[in-house]
Amino acid sequence: MGSPELKSVGDTSFPTECLSAVCEQHGPYEQKITKILTATFKSPCPVCNAEANERREREELERKAWERKRNLDYRLGSSAIPKRFVDKSFDGYKATSVGQKRALKVCREYVDYFDDHYKAGRCLMMVGRPGTGKTHLSAAIANAVMRLGDWTAVYRPLGNILHSIRDTYGNEATKTEGQIIAALVSADLLIIDEIGASKEKPSDFELAVIFAIVNGRYEDMKPTLIVSNLPPKELPGAMGERCVDRMRENGGIVLGFDWESSRGDV
Ligand SMILES: [Zn+2]
Repeated sequence: MGSPELKSVGDTSFPTECLSAVCEQHGPYEQKITKILTATFKSPCPVCNAEANERREREELERKAWERKRNLDYRLGSSAIPKRFVDKSFDGYKATSVGQKRALKVCREYVDYFDDHYKAGRCLMMVGRPGTGKTHLSAAIANAVMRLGDWTAVYRPLGNILHSIRDTYGNEATKTEGQIIAALVSADLLIIDEIGASKEKPSDFELAVIFAIVNGRYEDMKPTLIVSNLPPKELPGAMGERCVDRMRENGGIVLGFDWESSRGDV
């Protein structure tokens, strides 16, 4: 589009002459003077020039690091991980028994291969006895995944999701049911804790909400992590058979926590 004569400075097709010049800081240097049309370009001191480039690169790296940090802070802040679990990591998980070591290994590997799991929409179901560190490990997964790249992870107990959806039916609602479900579907990793915690048979409303979320994520091929104190065979009753089917698809992982509670000795 531009004029073909406008080539970069230093192009030999423009008349260039070299004169000696002096930098106040670095002394004499050979200065190239190039004339393009009516303009004259004088090359700067090479040392000053290199220093300026270096400074620009350093500032760019600092800016990027700051942006990454701000972005991570934002994602950590939006993850809704409860205060008690916000700093949970794999290192803080006490793994002495065979089951605990296995659980820790599976969770670490879920993070190590998260890229693959994400592409496959591979889900993880952490099920079994209360007090065995399921929420700790699920929060550790979320924390690690968010630090891995630009992933977003959201943690919500099921009761909390149901509550915020019921709130949308009130007159003072600021959000719609659709907006809440869309936000939960859009997270790269969603953790739904306390599935089947009520001990009662879930209502049609509860099942419909769980299905909307799990199925929405399934259709978008996004991994969902659920945490439940129920044994695996009771999961379909608590969240619906179709949801469990979708979660098991594509190599969905069922991780059992079948040892005694360790609450109280940590
Ligand atoms: Zn200089």
